[in-house]
Amino acid sequence: MSKNSSGEPGIDQDRRNLVFATAGVTALACIAPAPATDAPAANAAPAAPPAGAAPAGPFSLPTLPYADGALDPVISANTLGFHHGKHHRAYVDNLNKAVAGTPYADMTLEKIIAATYGVADKLAVYNNAAQHWNHSFYWRSLRPQGGGVPPAALRGKIEAAFGSVAACQKELLTAATTQFGSGWAWLVQDGDKLAVTKTGNADSPLVKGQRPLLAIDVWEHAYYLDYQNRRADHVNAVLDKLYNWGFAADNLSAA
Ligand code: MN
Repeated sequence: MSKNSSGEPGIDQDRRNLVFATAGVTALACIAPAPATDAPAANAAPAAPPAGAAPAGPFSLPTLPYADGALDPVISANTLGFHHGKHHRAYVDNLNKAVAGTPYADMTLEKIIAATYGVADKLAVYNNAAQHWNHSFYWRSLRPQGGGVPPAALRGKIEAAFGSVAACQKELLTAATTQFGSGWAWLVQDGDKLAVTKTGNADSPLVKGQRPLLAIDVWEHAYYLDYQNRRADHVNAVLDKLYNWGFAADNLSAA
């Protein structure tokens, strides 16, 4: 069992990730890794890489808040294993490489995103930082036996903005299916109102001053093994069965 045996780096990495919630988006507390990662993983979440397998760096892959198979059949263990263990890990590893020896190595993820957005020669830093942020947020946007009725305070805001929860879900579906190519669909808080938005590739609502409440990853790697080209089927299933309204409500109450 290759749990993280390096010990100390984990502490710094966790602290770095927790610092997230500084730039006005406290929703980012979501980035905190699941507790008790020292214990042998009973939930089969991908273990942290053994010492030496990844470049040392300030950022680390967060543990999933559920087992790989917990979202099946909407998202299979196979998809989740690749998505978290390979794709997300690659963003983290590449970010650590890109920030090594630069001032970014001492910045929070949010500060890196803000500092590199739109800067042509910092694209690799930006893309990997934003994708690390987006994925860490996305895992928390889902939960086993999700969907259903949002908590009352959130539901009120949804109804004020969209008319109904169903109408909100329909807007999310539209955003997710009309995002051309890779990207994300989001429920965000924009000022005092809720809105649905979409972003391309690694882009984040953060750079537009919006507070993310929930995310849907519409990169093909999020669904292709299970749904092939049927993005709408995947998104509908996520909205109905996995969407974590409680997480959105927590993000909202932090406003
Ligand atoms: Mn992804």
